Amino acid sequence: MKPLLEIESLRAGYGAINVLWDVSLTVEAGKTTVIVGPNGAGKTTLLRAVMGLIPVEGGDIRVDGASRRGAKTWDTVASGIVMIPEGRMIFPDMTVEDNLMMGAFPRGCRRDWKRNKEMVFEMFPRLVERRHQIAGTLSGGEAQMLAIGRGLMEQPRVCLIDEPSLGLAPVVVDEIFRILGRLRDQGMTIVLVEQNTSRALKIADQVYLMQSGKVVMSERGDRVDLDRLHALYFAHET
Ligand code: ATP
Repeated sequence: MKPLLEIESLRAGYGAINVLWDVSLTVEAGKTTVIVGPNGAGKTTLLRAVMGLIPVEGGDIRVDGASRRGAKTWDTVASGIVMIPEGRMIFPDMTVEDNLMMGAFPRGCRRDWKRNKEMVFEMFPRLVERRHQIAGTLSGGEAQMLAIGRGLMEQPRVCLIDEPSLGLAPVVVDEIFRILGRLRDQGMTIVLVEQNTSRALKIADQVYLMQSGKVVMSERGDRVDLDRLHALYFAHET
């Protein structure tokens, strides 16, 4: 069977500035693929390229074996690939419930929005309490739950999640990772970008380490040699 998502020799960047050099990785259905690496390694850029938010200059992106290179972002979302960006990016002037509704627009999600909303509320009881609250007044952790919940409203086949723990208190980070673990147990396909390596490794089926726009290590989650990972992680840092 073809992998759900395959990235092959990808080259992409911002105009004349190339960031990703020959990046290849494979995302298997139902698995959690973790991408770690220092600031500026190109992790977010990789997710943006997959979403069609920046042009692909070389290589290929395949879903179920079919090339998606050059696909528009709306079409990528319609194919079931959803990105939960760094910094939450919720609609601050809308209520929690309306934010969730915004996730129900793509594809056939509108038909199932009630069921999806119940599923999100079951996963995040805090959002039920806050359903009529203006999203801009949520705490950082609640906003992250809402961002994940909105992504789930889109009935994703693959969830690309960028730095969900960023700026959150340790106890809230625990809660976010508990939820990610639960999604994984339910069979969700997750691509997780994280700087919190130790926590991310606990839920990783496959780990990729990026450094200066390249993949410098790829290993099964349960086989990662932490000393080697750390040595490579800091290899180019001064
Ligand atoms: P971080 O953890 O800090 O977000 P990252 O691994 O996600 O790091 P990227 O955000 O992908 O790294 O950035 C990779 C490189 O691309 C950096 O050198 C960054 O300065 C550059 N870059 C990011 N966004 C842009 C942009 N919009 N225009 C030009 N260069 C950019």
